[in-house]
Amino acid sequence: MTNYEIVCVNAEKPHDHIISVGTKRDDEPVKVRSVKWVRRAIKNGDGFYTRSPKTQKTAEVERYECEEANCGFKTIRSAADATRKNNLNGLDPCEDSAAT
Ligand SMILES: [Zn+2]
Repeated sequence: MTNYEIVCVNAEKPHDHIISVGTKRDDEPVKVRSVKWVRRAIKNGDGFYTRSPKTQKTAEVERYECEEANCGFKTIRSAADATRKNNLNGLDPCEDSAAT
């Protein structure tokens, strides 16, 4: 099992679906991954989290399907009990958005 920190996100309108994220493991450079890649990794037992720059508090990231009517887009979100500061949608967009 590997733990990755999510440091940036790319989202798309109208529901702010996260479509790719920048992941960081230990001191390795940030890699931009598609949300599909992340969902598969979570299913296989890897962990993803976000960290509040202010408090350093972390929040787990989970698989999520958009709940807007007739959508059901398969994406991810920070766990339901996360504070707003940890929310994935509060992260900056990734500079290099080409997902691998
Ligand atoms: Zn949606």
